[in-house]
Amino acid sequence: MAEAETPTATKELPIVSFLHLPEKEGEDAYLAGSRCPECGAAYLGPRMACGRCFHAEALEDIQLSKQGKLHVFSIVHQSVPGVPVPYIAAIVDLPEGVSVRCNIEGVEPDPKQLKSGMPVEMYTEKVHTDRDGNDIIAFKFRPVNGGSN
Ligand SMILES: [Zn+2]
Repeated sequence: MAEAETPTATKELPIVSFLHLPEKEGEDAYLAGSRCPECGAAYLGPRMACGRCFHAEALEDIQLSKQGKLHVFSIVHQSVPGVPVPYIAAIVDLPEGVSVRCNIEGVEPDPKQLKSGMPVEMYTEKVHTDRDGNDIIAFKFRPVNGGSN
């Protein structure tokens, strides 16, 4: 006799390895980075060696700021099937000196609504459910204060 399939506990999984999701209540998601103990250069995600001073021993793990500034953006009007357009592709600069490629949401995809240097903050959102029922979580940025200034 076939046994009823028992659903296994589903998880939240980050879409990229450097997105750290909260492990317990009260924790916040953040982007993980690394910093060179020799020259202080910071990078997104883990790294084996420093690209600035070539220090090749363990880089420190750091938690990158959630707030940054919009550096450049592009409004994408054509994409692969299934990706709604237009959307805002951007590079955000974080105070640690790290640049992050990301999408900006929470604001009209209109160049008049966006300005280089405007403050933005990181947030996470479920973007997909995988075959095992796990939630796939992505990070995005949105203007601080709803983008009104
Ligand atoms: Zn270095």
